[in-house]
Amino acid sequence: MQCTLCSEHSELYCADRKRSYYRCLTCDLVFADPDSLIAEADEKAIYDFHENDPYDERYRQFLSQLSEPLLTKLKKGMRGLDFGCGPGPTLNLMLEEQGMQVELYDLYYYPDKAKLQQRYDFVTASEVVEHFAHPARSWQQLFSLIKPASWLAVMTSLNELKTTASFKNWNYKNDPTHVSFYSRQTINWLAERYQADYEIVNGRVILFRC
Ligand SMILES: [Zn+2]
Repeated sequence: MQCTLCSEHSELYCADRKRSYYRCLTCDLVFADPDSLIAEADEKAIYDFHENDPYDERYRQFLSQLSEPLLTKLKKGMRGLDFGCGPGPTLNLMLEEQGMQVELYDLYYYPDKAKLQQRYDFVTASEVVEHFAHPARSWQQLFSLIKPASWLAVMTSLNELKTTASFKNWNYKNDPTHVSFYSRQTINWLAERYQADYEIVNGRVILFRC
């Protein structure tokens, strides 16, 4: 099977009751069998069910893992894009409360393609990249959105699991909309591919700068 991120060779990694997973020998991406992807309408129905409320303190706490380290890199008045903001945009509000301007884009809820024709001082993607069915194309798009020497802040659960058995028990992979799983090695491959520096904070937030 060809890797969906780097196009190199991947091998069957494991299978659960619902689908098989492949692991790339080059970039270490683990991805769900492309033949097992669910239909877009079913995918959206699952997102509709995520009731992200901007006034939910726990949701804000979760997002602060991304916003706090990112804010230390930014200056007031900078303009960013929250890519894949979902049905209840919240991260944008948290950043705006700290003096930033934030635009929204979401394939299903804020599908204004004009937002993808611009470049920003920072781009955020919280719990988005694990949904990438075509990660080569989607990462290309993410990196194309930032100005030179700007920030791309990504939050996802990293695959830190050493064994197939522990991967098979990982709750994160059971969400049928989660199809791409990144290890630290995959993040490193992405950074090299896009000539970016990066740091990983709070275990699940990657701040790319390029
Ligand atoms: Zn690969």
